[in-house]
Amino acid sequence: MNFEYSEKTQELIARVSAFMDEHIYPNEQRFIDEVNTGDRWEHTAVVEELKVKAKELGLWNLFLPESEHGAGLTNLEYAPLCELMGRVLWAPEVFNCNAPDTGNMEVLARYGTEEQKKQWLEPLLEGEIRSCFAMTEPAVASSDATNIESSIVRDGDEYVINGRKWWSSGGNDPRCKIFIFMGKTDPENENRHRQQSMILVPRDTPGVTVLRHLPVFGYDDAPHGHAEILFENVRVPASNMLLGEGRGFEIAQGRLGPGRIHHCMRLIGLAERALEKMCDRLKNRVAFGKPVALQTVWAERIAEARIMIDQTRFLVLNAAWKMDTVGNKVAAKEIGMIKIAAPQMACQVIDWAIQAHGGGGVSDDFGLAYAYAMARTLRLADGPDEVHRNQVAKMELRG
Ligand SMILES: Cc1cc2nc3c(=O)[nH]c(=O)nc-3n(C[C@H](O)[C@H](O)[C@H](O)COP(=O)(O)OP(=O)(O)OC[C@H]3O[C@@H](n4cnc5c(N)ncnc54)[C@H](O)[C@@H]3O)c2cc1C
Repeated sequence: MNFEYSEKTQELIARVSAFMDEHIYPNEQRFIDEVNTGDRWEHTAVVEELKVKAKELGLWNLFLPESEHGAGLTNLEYAPLCELMGRVLWAPEVFNCNAPDTGNMEVLARYGTEEQKKQWLEPLLEGEIRSCFAMTEPAVASSDATNIESSIVRDGDEYVINGRKWWSSGGNDPRCKIFIFMGKTDPENENRHRQQSMILVPRDTPGVTVLRHLPVFGYDDAPHGHAEILFENVRVPASNMLLGEGRGFEIAQGRLGPGRIHHCMRLIGLAERALEKMCDRLKNRVAFGKPVALQTVWAERIAEARIMIDQTRFLVLNAAWKMDTVGNKVAAKEIGMIKIAAPQMACQVIDWAIQAHGGGGVSDDFGLAYAYAMARTLRLADGPDEVHRNQVAKMELRG
């Protein structure tokens, strides 16, 4: 692959970077203050204001390769932009490039009917509503999605949905208006990968109850959050089915590739920021007569962090390039590899940054504890490390 960014990418890197400098970093404290004032689950004024600015500047919907709806960038072109946005946890939403909406928009763009696109994709692309992907269930080991037990039963012109989901990210946000729900339409099908379907469930449908938010290491991740949701005899029109009965796995495959690589891109940005903070702190903090940066293990940790971040970036760019050139399916091994490597790298780098800040590192003053919590979840979300390792090993052995 050619490692050089195209002129178009370089120009966008400069613009996203300038936007981060001008509008995101100076507003980090404002975001925290707004979340901590009043209803934590109400969206913040700062994000809504900045969304307008980003949209005006054309820094909007930069994801979505191979689609008339996006900015026309390939995965490889989008990678460094997504990395920049990932430096601040709430920044991606300002550019309408946040999870899980990007993955959900990708599903609607690829598999939605014209009517579904009009009703749900358009407002999502405009950033007017938010969405949620409801697959994982508390009752079963959901790393094996064939275990999913929720039912989707046809009844005349409708489907009746029953099930309990958790870790439905974004489900607590009042702007979240649509769930992509995974369940079984044909539990007896001999092919376990044809039992599942995905269907669109509007949030205000009777029978949908958001039960609680699930904290992550004590962080509620408001106003986004991760919800436990009960679906009791929820009726939706048959036209809400995505792609067709029994095609849930097919959609999951299409959705998870891009969703996973975006998480990895953002994690690189998060790790870069942590390394920056770590170097700053180590240079400026004096203990035992000299800056901590010059003492014992710190040179090694700084060097190791730089190596780990750059290694991961190259792996991610390689995966992006393969997705662009041979498609998401053939790039499955590369996607699996980065899904394992990026969260582990980010956790290690952020952990060192926390250590470098002493007690301050585990407080909320430097954003490192929250960054660690979020990076750690990505060893689980979108499938745990072990499952991806099994897949990578299987493909390696097959080869
Ligand atoms: C912050 C966060 C956000 C999330 N967002 C969403 C979302 O928006 N939508 C959604 O549907 N889900 C979401 N999830 C859920 C996530 O995808 C699941 O937690 C994950 O797939 C694991 O499923 P599980 O929790 O049921 O763990 P289980 O399947 O019970 O697995 C438990 C553990 O068993 C081990 N294990 C499982 N299989 C194997 C194997 N084959 N080999 C070796 N070990 C194995 C792993 O260590 C694993 O962690 C989110 C999770 C988190 C933490």
